[in-house]
Amino acid sequence: MAAKRDYYEILGVPRDASPDAIKQAFRRLARKYHPDANPGNPEAEEKFKEINEAYEVLSDPQKRARYDQFGHAGAQAGAGPGPGGAGFGGFDINFGGIDDLFDMFMGGGQARRRGPVPGEDLRADVVLTLEEVLTGAEKTVTVEREEICATCRGSGAEGPGGVETCPQCRGTGQVQQVRESFFGQFVRTFPCPRCQGRGRIITRPCRTCHGRGRIRAERRLTVKVPPGVDNNTRLRMAGQGGAGERGGPPGDLIVFVHVREHPRFRRQDADLLTDLHVGFAQAALGAELTVPTLDGGTATVKLPPGTQPGTILRLKDLGLPRLGQGGRGDLRVQIVLDVPKKLSAEEREWLHRWAEMHREPVNQEDRGFIRRVRDAFGS
Ligand SMILES: [Zn+2]
Ligand SMILES: [Zn+2]
Repeated sequence: MAAKRDYYEILGVPRDASPDAIKQAFRRLARKYHPDANPGNPEAEEKFKEINEAYEVLSDPQKRARYDQFGHAGAQAGAGPGPGGAGFGGFDINFGGIDDLFDMFMGGGQARRRGPVPGEDLRADVVLTLEEVLTGAEKTVTVEREEICATCRGSGAEGPGGVETCPQCRGTGQVQQVRESFFGQFVRTFPCPRCQGRGRIITRPCRTCHGRGRIRAERRLTVKVPPGVDNNTRLRMAGQGGAGERGGPPGDLIVFVHVREHPRFRRQDADLLTDLHVGFAQAALGAELTVPTLDGGTATVKLPPGTQPGTILRLKDLGLPRLGQGGRGDLRVQIVLDVPKKLSAEEREWLHRWAEMHREPVNQEDRGFIRRVRDAFGS
């Protein structure tokens, strides 16, 4: 109560203001700084208190006279169950209760969140190889989460005697406040500020969780990853997130799936793509070849005569499982024609003859050399 401001100054009226002028100034300021109009504004709250205090004194002719004569000390000395603001146009502020009222207002924003709070969702990541996508996998993830304290089973109290019914709300968790204001009569129901709406008060807190009812724990959990997942797949493990508060449900654990790239197989949805390198003769004459499959086995590819490079041959049902749909994709084998980079003299000669038959112009620089070598060895 140090360094109190002058009551006339607070209401912004001259020292000789009429009771009506004081009343009007008070009404105008009270409306402006009323907590209903300024929720969660501590400055307005202070102002409102100040205005009320000033008005309590200046609206009472006796108190005002004492204040005028002795200042704040005089007004306080005379304070008592006087007429207060009664008789001024039918509004009345419960001055005695105003502090309690403000505690309610200030607690109000918080108190609204004092009901059951769901636990938080948590994230974990798993990395799979493409082989694991084929078969499905069990992965272990480590999660740090809030858990219900096992010692007190979430009550936060040491034993059954560590809790008692809240005396303020008698266990209902709610309190009501009836009051008059410029905006009419209010009946407000608040979560009880004493017990935060729980209806109970912990008298002896649990020693494990120190009354929180929850403890932070690190858990290793097994995640069953079904076959066919992809990089954008998220697995929701219901109830494996953080514990809820005050009876709220637990959150979920959301597992983000990442699939490693494979050196041989590329993926297109449920289809797998792989390259098959073939020689010119194989492509021209046709061949029966084998390709590796993702499960570690092999599959037979029938290359028809005259297969062009870039041709895709489809091997049914050798792709990946379709997530949640059943069935599998295909293995698509793309034909890559291998052109030889090094040729023996004989291979060179064969190709020159081939080129002549087809009238394909080719480089001739090495031809004389080949012939000379051949002649020298008499072949
Ligand atoms: Zn506990
Ligand atoms: Zn209570």
